Amino acid sequence: MSDIKPIVEIRGITKEFNEKKALDNVDLDIYPGRIIGLLGPNGSGKSTLIRHMIGLYLPTKGNCVTFGCDAAKLGPKELSRIGYVHQEGELLDWMTTGQLIRYVSAYYPNWSKELEERYVRDFELGLDDRIGALSPGQRQKLAILLAIGHNPDLLILDEPASALDPIARAQFLDLLLKIIQQEGKTILISSHILSDVEKIIDHVIIMRSGRIISDHTFDDLRERYMRVRLTSLNKSLPEKLPFDRVLSCQRNNGLAVMTLEEPCIETVKSQAETLNCTLVVHPLPLEDIYKIVMNQNA
Ligand code: ADP
Repeated sequence: MSDIKPIVEIRGITKEFNEKKALDNVDLDIYPGRIIGLLGPNGSGKSTLIRHMIGLYLPTKGNCVTFGCDAAKLGPKELSRIGYVHQEGELLDWMTTGQLIRYVSAYYPNWSKELEERYVRDFELGLDDRIGALSPGQRQKLAILLAIGHNPDLLILDEPASALDPIARAQFLDLLLKIIQQEGKTILISSHILSDVEKIIDHVIIMRSGRIISDHTFDDLRERYMRVRLTSLNKSLPEKLPFDRVLSCQRNNGLAVMTLEEPCIETVKSQAETLNCTLVVHPLPLEDIYKIVMNQNA
């Protein structure tokens, strides 16, 4: 990371609402070129953290610098580098889709007509449709288009896909992958649909009770937690198995499926051989990794 600077630097942010802490002394650096999954249960502080990054909330303590500028003082130059889609996105219901696109695009000198036309087509948006009459999924697609039409360097998506059907979600994930292929683009996505998120992210931040409890690359997490499946060739396993750092184990006669933490695969292999077992190692799905991290930080 030597000479690459973070585009968002959060230092010691605490945010209180009516003396209740929504964020508790959070430090975070966001580096460019990543797709980051921001995960955590409802109420863990994800939206509050995001809102600090773009100056929508001011911290009770600490500070946030986004694109080199105090987030509370972001001007048009910095804001034009940010795209933001959030759950309660309000759209002007009396306008048509086309009118709202024109209205929003007028704020951005770098608005891309080409991107706009492509996503109007891909998302099957009707330019003459009245916004008030759009389905939740169509509204969400429009909100996404409005957030990416100016080709932002930092795209922040707070539960962006919750109203989309599976086909629209797949299209949306493709779109994010295309965006990230452009050099220097960064995406921060908060979502509960972990099976979607895991297809695109390369970095995972997990929050709980206003704190960041995990901030790692997805690859590091997949190396840290692994599932191994042990099948005995003589149909039985000893009662006590020799493996270290077993987080969970399900057994049935000559079969054991275990989740191991920081396993040395060479050692596990030789232990399996000694037991006269075949061994298959599986990476864990993000959802399982998430549950483990939550349990370990309960
Ligand atoms: P998440 O996005 O992880 O679901 P939030 O950041 O929305 O969590 O909320 C974190 C905590 O802060 C919750 O307890 C929530 O009720 C509280 N909170 C968030 N925004 C406000 C607000 N504007 N006023 C009062 N409490 C708030």
